[in-house]
Amino acid sequence: MLEEHGGGHDPFAEVNETVSRACEILGLPDDVRQIFCSTYREISVQIPLRRSDGSITVLRGYRVQHNGARGPYKGGIRYHPEASLSDVRAMASLMTWKCAIVNLPYGGAKGGVMVDPHLLNEGELEQLTRRFTLAISYVLGVNRDIPAPDVNTNAQIMAWIMDAYGSRYGHQPGIVTGKPVELGGSLGREAATGRGVVNIIAEAANDLGIPLDGARVAIQGFGNVGSNAAKLILELGCKVVGVSDASGGVINSNGLDIDALLAWTAEHGGVAGYPEADNATNNDVLTMDCDILIPAALAQAINDDNAEDVKARLVVEAANHPLSSGADALLQDKGITVVPDILANAGGVTVSYLEWVQNIQQYRWTEDHVNRELGSVMKRAWGEVHAYAVDHKLPLRDAAMCLSVARVARAAKLRGYI
Ligand code: GLU
Repeated sequence: MLEEHGGGHDPFAEVNETVSRACEILGLPDDVRQIFCSTYREISVQIPLRRSDGSITVLRGYRVQHNGARGPYKGGIRYHPEASLSDVRAMASLMTWKCAIVNLPYGGAKGGVMVDPHLLNEGELEQLTRRFTLAISYVLGVNRDIPAPDVNTNAQIMAWIMDAYGSRYGHQPGIVTGKPVELGGSLGREAATGRGVVNIIAEAANDLGIPLDGARVAIQGFGNVGSNAAKLILELGCKVVGVSDASGGVINSNGLDIDALLAWTAEHGGVAGYPEADNATNNDVLTMDCDILIPAALAQAINDDNAEDVKARLVVEAANHPLSSGADALLQDKGITVVPDILANAGGVTVSYLEWVQNIQQYRWTEDHVNRELGSVMKRAWGEVHAYAVDHKLPLRDAAMCLSVARVARAAKLRGYI
């Protein structure tokens, strides 16, 4: 029996709808569907955090391993007040399918600590990271489970994870990816997710006949993924006409100067108030007149309330699970093409894999080499998904999920556990 969720919005159940649909299309038996719609191992840990004022805040953290048929578990760790168990399960499942779609030898996992890291100082953040790492360290390992950055976590946090793990088990740089370059991180990892998104847009536009020269792009989210995608998409001849983040949104139909916007954001903490544009809300940016929309923030940004108003021709899911199931169906009815998260944002974990490979070989590749490898992985994955969608007359999300589920099912069968 699959576990029930206590009412309300249940991200894991939404992801499982797509997984179940793929199992059905592939004709897989129900017991296999049940394996794929539940997780292998979940640990939930208490993190008592000593605050700078001497008080203790008790936090909760999770590491969820979804499926390991294709290799060690792989996936990021997020620090967010809404990183609930259902959310982390959903993201762990997406990692299984994401790694399979780009053909990495990994299974899927995700971690989360329910906390708003903006309320912590640097020392508290470090202590939280060390405690959480040691609490989940029993299920980690270079060949077992390899964390990485996700929402609100970064290279510095990965360095603390590596150090905390190493203090107990001996130095092993391949235990975590997305590390600072000085500590064995890969050149190109920081921008990899955004770069992969842009690689996919180039391929999709070509196959779908969308002219890129002068194409108007709106980006929701201006963190690591959104800002790198914004910079790199200019190289395709597109212009970025709208950007939003937690502070609000900015719109300029002539195209925003991304370097200037980045400088403004660094100084003011968000895009709001940037002078060379009109002020807007997050929703204005999601529903503005544009050709390509890139949701690059949190889950469910496009939902039953605003999906009807989306005007883009192509939606590229740079975030994980940015569309609710209802919104996904609505966009499909409107004839909008959606490139699903497990394909669109797989560039991050792809360069994580390249980092892991370099760590194991104790060797360093040039940034050009990394970017070329990334480009060819994304191009091949797009080609396979697009061809499957055309051959089987399926939306890209179902096509991507069918390809991934078939690969994981094949690995599980070869191992002898289904
Ligand atoms: N957190 C990123 C994702 O959702 C990267 C995961 C990784 O590199 O392992 O894909």
